Amino acid sequence: MRKKIVAGNWKMNKTPKEAVALAEMLKPKVATDNSQVIFCVPYVDLIPVAEVLKGTNILLGAENLHFEDKGAYTGEISAPMLKEIGVKCVVIGHSERREYFAETDETVNKKVVKALEYGLLPIMCCGESLAEREDGITIEKIRIQIKKGMKGLSKDDAKKVVVAYEPIWAIGTGRVATTEQAQEVCHAIRVVLGELFGEDTAQEISILYGGSVSAANAAELFKMEDIDGGLVGGASLKEDFEVIAKA
Ligand code: PEP
Repeated sequence: MRKKIVAGNWKMNKTPKEAVALAEMLKPKVATDNSQVIFCVPYVDLIPVAEVLKGTNILLGAENLHFEDKGAYTGEISAPMLKEIGVKCVVIGHSERREYFAETDETVNKKVVKALEYGLLPIMCCGESLAEREDGITIEKIRIQIKKGMKGLSKDDAKKVVVAYEPIWAIGTGRVATTEQAQEVCHAIRVVLGELFGEDTAQEISILYGGSVSAANAAELFKMEDIDGGLVGGASLKEDFEVIAKA
């Protein structure tokens, strides 16, 4: 049985005080044993939100990490730093990081490897642009992102990765992929995972859909065979996240 996961990506929202208030508000609402709920929050919010989440089964996640342990990388945060403050999970290769911060499949791969080395759960993002979808190269693009992002991983390590399919044209736009579009790509992801790591391993890897997931569409999306939950941006900052977590 694959793990059902609902991860909120708070992006660059919420000061530490606001983050504590949001986490306190959501904590009792999203407590569920049926799925793994994760709050991925800005770096400065991690320590105060960790306090709020103590004693719950909600996991704390970061939105990025550096692929070196330490060194002259001004402004960056490393896996051991995250580990020490109780972070359990990290978003890697979000399309906003790829677009605005020059992330490539190669840096994504290094970050996935580093997260695994420190026992952090990587949520590795992939997704096509609108132009790529219109050119009919969605599956091709996704296959390359998965192959490069998970390059060199053993089967055991691959099982510890969560993949998030996030069509770029659906992120923050209110334009959600249809359940069929989302399922088609999530299935294609499982196929490539099977080619890389074997069918048994592919069946154990959780694949999330992200892109304008809302209280209104979550249940339909999460019913699809290859969709094991969601990576949620905007709707994770409000009460709607309760409905999504319960879906
Ligand atoms: C995201 O940031 O990963 C995301 C999917 O955002 P939204 O839900 O707002 O589209």
